[in-house]
Amino acid sequence: MLVSAKDMVTAARANGYAIGAFNLNNLEWTKSVLKAAQESNAPVIVQVSEGAGKYMCGFKTVADMVRDIIESQNITVPVALHLDHGTYDGCYKCIDAGFTSIMFDGSALPIEENIAKTKELVAKAHEKGMSIEAEVGAIGGEEDGVVGMGECADPEECAKIADLGVDFLAAGIGNIHGVYPANWPGLRFDVLENIKKAVGNMPLVLHGGSGIPDEMVQKAIGLGVSKVNVNTECQIAFAKATREYIEAGKDKQGKGFDPRKLLAPGAQAIVDMVNYKINVFGSKDKA
Ligand SMILES: [Zn+2]
Repeated sequence: MLVSAKDMVTAARANGYAIGAFNLNNLEWTKSVLKAAQESNAPVIVQVSEGAGKYMCGFKTVADMVRDIIESQNITVPVALHLDHGTYDGCYKCIDAGFTSIMFDGSALPIEENIAKTKELVAKAHEKGMSIEAEVGAIGGEEDGVVGMGECADPEECAKIADLGVDFLAAGIGNIHGVYPANWPGLRFDVLENIKKAVGNMPLVLHGGSGIPDEMVQKAIGLGVSKVNVNTECQIAFAKATREYIEAGKDKQGKGFDPRKLLAPGAQAIVDMVNYKINVFGSKDKA
């Protein structure tokens, strides 16, 4: 069933686990993530960036596809459909398209403008029964001139945005989107603890969750992270399985070129990765 992410993330925060938020890229991704969530009996967030939404022919296509797959595949675990890193306009488009959750990313805006727009969108989202995530701008992206440090949010700014009534909050704690560089020093648990002190029980969101060692993610969950975004790791798993299929020459055997056969190993690799992540995040059997 398609629901707001509010209850599942709040329950995760209260009970010390995190909900996996998996980015979608196409039909195979959507089927695979929902299949894994059902297998693991876990509440799940499926999300799209604005770019992925455009790639999939618009937010309406995404919303219809997710709803239809939930129905046709008898997906009974709670599923939230979320916009990842939404612009102001993108948030309104997803409200109209039937999403159940949005993220407004005003982190690049001056804090006052981020506050004003977040406040407006909190009211709109809640009016529709949707959950909303906001993001606080980063400081010290190139701390000490070291590349690959990841960015850290200011706890005071986190408190200002948290107080606007958002349902969960993304704040940089040295995390990075994409593949982590070899010299990455790890998550900044000191920053996370200060943010936690500043925002109280507000569930926090860990972006760039792909490639952070499991123990670090679990420690962050213990410190208030209740939603972990995963995108790159599923993409790498899909690409690896697809490459192995082709390199083994299987597309040249019989009807191995049929996309239903060609994409099957990659789709299964996503199912396996999502099940694995759900275990790490502790949300298995929490549906
Ligand atoms: Zn992100």
